[in-house]
Amino acid sequence: MRQSFLFTKTRKNSPSDEQAKNAELLIRAGYVHKEMAGVYALLPLGLRTVEKIKNIIREELDAIGSQEIEMTSLQDPDLWRKTNRWDDESVDNWFKTQLKNGTELGVANTHEEPITNMLIDHVSSYRHLPLYVYQFQTKFRNELRAKSGLMRGREFLMKDLYSYSATEEEFESFYEQVAKAYMDIFRRVGLDGYVFRTKAAGGSFTNKFTDEFQAVSNAGEDWIYLDRERGLAINEEVYSEEVAMSEGLDIDSIERLRSIEVGNIFPLETKYSKGVGLTYKDSEGNDQYPIMGSYGIGIGRLLGTVVELLADDNGIILPESISPFKVHLISIGASDEVNQGAQNLYDQLAEKGCEVLWDDRDVSPGQKFNDSDLIGIPYQVVISERLLKNDSYEYKARTSTERLTLGLAEIINKISC
Ligand code: ATP
Ligand code: MG
Repeated sequence: MRQSFLFTKTRKNSPSDEQAKNAELLIRAGYVHKEMAGVYALLPLGLRTVEKIKNIIREELDAIGSQEIEMTSLQDPDLWRKTNRWDDESVDNWFKTQLKNGTELGVANTHEEPITNMLIDHVSSYRHLPLYVYQFQTKFRNELRAKSGLMRGREFLMKDLYSYSATEEEFESFYEQVAKAYMDIFRRVGLDGYVFRTKAAGGSFTNKFTDEFQAVSNAGEDWIYLDRERGLAINEEVYSEEVAMSEGLDIDSIERLRSIEVGNIFPLETKYSKGVGLTYKDSEGNDQYPIMGSYGIGIGRLLGTVVELLADDNGIILPESISPFKVHLISIGASDEVNQGAQNLYDQLAEKGCEVLWDDRDVSPGQKFNDSDLIGIPYQVVISERLLKNDSYEYKARTSTERLTLGLAEIINKISC
């Protein structure tokens, strides 16, 4: 794509009401638009990145047998009354609305109840289990504080997955498969080495632990105790020496660190299948409730975390896997030779399947370089009259200071797409 065609503009200063580094950088680079506190719209660069994150998650969840659906944002209060989650006292962050005739409706903050209810139409026998469904869906939460940019939104995109199993063994085996898929997802989006599986508190109805996936970062709201060697952590909420020992963590090696919960996985037992009334007949013909699990990842929070952890003083740094473009082609000067040289490289890279953002704008080289660092595309290629005289291009990885001068064939070879 030609950058002169991209309608978004970069900006030097962040909005005065924005304190979080992730939102500051994403706004300045033109990935997102701040609608109001805790509410962010996706612009072309942001949407491309979010679609790539979603596709990575899709690949990993489809590979363990999950099926994608899309539920609705308007919800029936009666379902939530069945599980005692309609009252503002039990769920303190509901957005609620009304029909013209005064009938109350819920605005989705999660989907255990509607998905379980939907399955009543589709599950009646043990032969129909296990089943795993997931969606990417906007959640609305009336969060008290919305100061962490994309990491704590009042409207945000979540991937939520729900599992329905006939036996405890089957449930546990899937739960572990999701835990592994999550670590693969976090590695693939660029958080390798930052995210740790973390023991955390179960819900009010279970004395079991749940598992969170915490990214170590000072921008986080949580505290964890981490045994780096074993790659395991415990949320401060449930930390005690006894818990640490019973998980095989080494007390003397443990660090206390700030972290961001990028995902979580919950054993739900039969709370929602019982509450909503989802049953199946076992092989003897008796009615049973499926054992459930729920598994969340906040998409905006994940992007915000990548930005917080990988950015440098010059701007965003995104890994190839989720960057909106693979190559930032920067043409200096607007002579026919430069434009032809740039077009030629653009076409050859496009033929290889490389997504290229070509900065063809009529602005100073300094502004182009600054913007390129701010946007954070992994590879920068410069073309100018001076370089063209030697049939060469300048190549630099966003994460490196080394500039390489390469010929056309070399550069095409260097960039694998
Ligand atoms: P938290 O403890 O941070 O409030 P939660 O435990 O309520 O989150 P869930 O309701 O289980 O989270 O949501 C699943 C995932 O969605 C979380 O792990 C997190 O990544 C993300 N998430 C939760 N709340 C928000 C929010 N307000 N903004 C952005 N992402 C969120
Ligand atoms: Mg939590």
